[in-house]
Amino acid sequence: MNFDRISIPAHGQRIGLDEATGRPVVPDQPVIPYILGDGIGVDVTPAMIRVIDAAVAKAYDGARRIAWVELPAGERSFQATGEWLPQVTLDAFQHFRVGIKGPLTTPIGGGIRSLNVAIRQTLDLYANVRPVYYIQGLPSPVRHPEHMDMILFREATEDVYAGIEWQAGTPEADKIIRFLRQEMGVTAIAEDDAAGTGIGIKPISQRKTRRLVRKAIAYAVAKGKASVTLVHKGNIMKFTEGAFRDWGYQEARENFSAQTVSEQEVAAQHGGQAPAGKVVINDRIADNMLQQILTRTTDYQVLALPNLNGDYLSDAAAAQVGGLGIAHGGNIGDEVAVFEAVHGTAPKYAGLDKANPSALLLSGVMMLDHMDWDDAALLIRQAIGRAITDKMVTYDLARQLEGATELSCSAFAQAVIDRL
Ligand code: NAP
Repeated sequence: MNFDRISIPAHGQRIGLDEATGRPVVPDQPVIPYILGDGIGVDVTPAMIRVIDAAVAKAYDGARRIAWVELPAGERSFQATGEWLPQVTLDAFQHFRVGIKGPLTTPIGGGIRSLNVAIRQTLDLYANVRPVYYIQGLPSPVRHPEHMDMILFREATEDVYAGIEWQAGTPEADKIIRFLRQEMGVTAIAEDDAAGTGIGIKPISQRKTRRLVRKAIAYAVAKGKASVTLVHKGNIMKFTEGAFRDWGYQEARENFSAQTVSEQEVAAQHGGQAPAGKVVINDRIADNMLQQILTRTTDYQVLALPNLNGDYLSDAAAAQVGGLGIAHGGNIGDEVAVFEAVHGTAPKYAGLDKANPSALLLSGVMMLDHMDWDDAALLIRQAIGRAITDKMVTYDLARQLEGATELSCSAFAQAVIDRL
């Protein structure tokens, strides 16, 4: 691979891969490629790097250090080179295996639907993993935000992300509609509506469902979680969403039979009490699940979801514990992982040193967890908690917290560093 366009520090080492476990093998000075990002990326990404560097230095007494490598992408890259997502960026994430990105503007027109989707699909980062838990002191619209402690495994390469769509009135839409009406006997699109109907197709496959559910169950088993819930809309879309549920159960039966038990088996064979040490596999219809996260929050720990359900559920869950300024995640494949905040570029705050860097910082903490740099991760988690309890927060939280001190993005990063 040709990395002439990017500057790799001489001391930086490539993260390896343990073929047997699929886990990264992390040297003491790993190269971590990152995308600064558009909009508030210029504020939150440097803040994240400062805090992580400080925590790593403190946790390991200087014996470990990240060799950060900036990669071109997004609007800044487009203005400089005419490329939204240069090949070198994809190659570097692939080669160095673990990276992090700031938010990217979605180009309007020009053939790219979304840079984030392109990165996930090209690198096959099929599990969009989003932990949602409460940090003491955060403002919340619910009475018991501390009940929320879930992790969502959202499929990130198919379903609506496959992007199979045709605009109403185009020859392509016309062709598909004619095919559906004439050859497939579809009567749901009336003749009168044919010219004014857009078409979308969502594929959900057995292989991609099973590898996603496998990740969710493996996580639940490793962390001793009580259950994994398959969230679907199988009552309406039987052969996509319903198949997601069925293949999910099949994955549990065939690959985790010793560690899991289905909710039906718990009821029929175990008197309603899950056997000790077994992860219960259950399923819920997506609309019901949206109310369950509010009404029976503590019943759920690990969720596995097709793409669109995961999008809705993760924002709804995040809203219960602090919202977009906090919501974080990672895109994880079999060999490569790229971490990112859930929020976008928030253009109205771009460059104002105002946005909350916590979401990207907590994504960085997930990255440290993924690298097994647990001590540094823990230091940051605790320090963010202390800053929030001290009510030293950015504007988004300050406006909801009585008596809070409103800090800029960089001052919040410093407040976290001061509490490491
Ligand atoms: P957004 O950028 O997430 O911002 C929406 C609102 O959320 C902001 O106006 C702000 O609310 C709040 N917010 C977001 N990030 C925050 C932070 N770090 N700290 C505090 N508040 C924060 O969503 P959008 O305006 O719909 O999207 C803007 C652009 O980002 C679009 O081009 C979109 O495609 C792109 N996008 C990129 C990603 C990604 O790169 N992963 C994800 C989503 C969207 P208040 O104004 O109420 O304070």
